[in-house]
Amino acid sequence: MLESHDQVRWGRTLIPFTCQFSERKTLAISVHPDLTVSIKAPLYTTTEEIRTRVLNRAAWIQRQWREFELYLPKQPPRSYINGETHRYLGRQYRLRAEVGEVDSVKCLRGYFRVTLCDEPTPELVAKRLDNWYRQRARAIFYERLEECCRKARQEELSKPLLRIQKMTNRWGSCSKSGRIILNLELIKAPKECIDYVIMHELCHLPEQHHGPRFWRLLEKLMPDYAERRKRLNLFADV
Ligand SMILES: [Zn+2]
Repeated sequence: MLESHDQVRWGRTLIPFTCQFSERKTLAISVHPDLTVSIKAPLYTTTEEIRTRVLNRAAWIQRQWREFELYLPKQPPRSYINGETHRYLGRQYRLRAEVGEVDSVKCLRGYFRVTLCDEPTPELVAKRLDNWYRQRARAIFYERLEECCRKARQEELSKPLLRIQKMTNRWGSCSKSGRIILNLELIKAPKECIDYVIMHELCHLPEQHHGPRFWRLLEKLMPDYAERRKRLNLFADV
């Protein structure tokens, strides 16, 4: 089969692609989980025509790339006033802040009950809730990491160090030195999505890039990873 390699520039993004020519009527563009882009084109389609088609779909290609990565869309701003909903492990809780004897946060029956000794201003409520999320994230992320490492034990990956921090554009990342960073925001997502992010990063320990070996390993350790990723992306959209 006739095949060619080419690339187009879209803003600052370079989009490399392979093109296969065959007896077909329409041109089709696919983005694969390893982030490669492939084109199926009718015979005799010109290079210029193909490049134009790729450029026209560039925004969509970039969206696909983001979906395959652990991209975190911009979150809507929160005002920390009573009645506003906040999430924890995929569920929504309505905020109820009040003055009380001791500072505390309780999460029950659909409510986040934030009690403060001082007048609960949005800043104080935000700070208190943030601390609570941080405590829960510490407990739950470590527990999920243990569980994911247990599932991946036949791969003999060394157990990574975990750090939790706020990140604006990613759910997680993995450093070359073997440290996994999880976004504090992830504590708002369902557990199955937390596990997806952790497993995704664990697979980056032996496979730094999103090559076919990376996806094969992820699929072996988490056969339903694509559904979990989809759920994470849907969740982040709200
Ligand atoms: Zn990745």
